[in-house]
Amino acid sequence: MRVIFMRKFQTGLILLSILLIFSACGSKPTERSITNNTRQDTSVAKGDIKNNTTNTIPEKTQTNIAQKEGSDTKEQPAVAAEQTAEPKVSNISGSEFAILKGKVICVDPGHQKKVDNSTEPLAPGSSIMKVKNPGGAAGRVTGVPEYVLNLNVSEMLKKELEKNGAKVVMTREANDVNLGNVKRAEIANEANADLYIRIHADSSDNTSIKGISVLIPSSKYIKDKNLLSESKTAGTDVLKELVGKTGAKSRGVVERDDMTGFNWAKVPMLLVEMGFMSNADEDKLMDTPEYRAKLVNGMVSGIADYFRI
Ligand SMILES: [Zn+2]
Repeated sequence: MRVIFMRKFQTGLILLSILLIFSACGSKPTERSITNNTRQDTSVAKGDIKNNTTNTIPEKTQTNIAQKEGSDTKEQPAVAAEQTAEPKVSNISGSEFAILKGKVICVDPGHQKKVDNSTEPLAPGSSIMKVKNPGGAAGRVTGVPEYVLNLNVSEMLKKELEKNGAKVVMTREANDVNLGNVKRAEIANEANADLYIRIHADSSDNTSIKGISVLIPSSKYIKDKNLLSESKTAGTDVLKELVGKTGAKSRGVVERDDMTGFNWAKVPMLLVEMGFMSNADEDKLMDTPEYRAKLVNGMVSGIADYFRI
């Protein structure tokens, strides 16, 4: 009787062990496995990458793209899904970021709620007129308007930069404003910013395209070579850290001469295209506080690298 009991007991133990092993295998995916999935996905649409740093657009075609500032023209949904989450942005403090202390950084959250089809000159002295605010992109799956995403990430960025002693000047702190891109550049100029960083998200008719790019000014309208090279260094540093912190695909640093918000600026500048709202995966990722925190982490690290070197 005792032998039988012991055998049953042993069999029970074995069954219990098997059960435990199976339940461990079926647990929720870890952050690492999520990251790996994301990295695998980024191999899609490789052929669509624009040329690095030499992506200039002929003058003739500029009227067609004249409505775009940040290469997105998707309609905005009527209801703005406000993002109020306050995720923690880890690893952004300490001596590594001491270089940010006292730096003046102008943060420009791209677009706004109101569409403004009035025009302004593409550059000082230019006869090419561009629409002030054609509206931004919107999440293909989430429906989140780009201006909401841009402002939320910009506010997070402001908070982290200020935590490290930087002085942050925002071009806007609400969605219900009306600012052209000349005005945004002038705010950066008036602040005599050490860096002018513009926050946008991308969109494309090809929904498989994804990844982060950083736009910088070209020499077509900006003749200050030092300003161009500083912007390129900053853009390169920020893109490197953004890709490193998020695991997203890099679409390179791209020179643009068709952006009013660049051509009027007199301080080092760059524009982050955080990802494609037209891509379901990236749209959903950018809608999470965790991924936004990674984006901010990358931006702060890249900005610190730019000032450090
Ligand atoms: Zn945009």
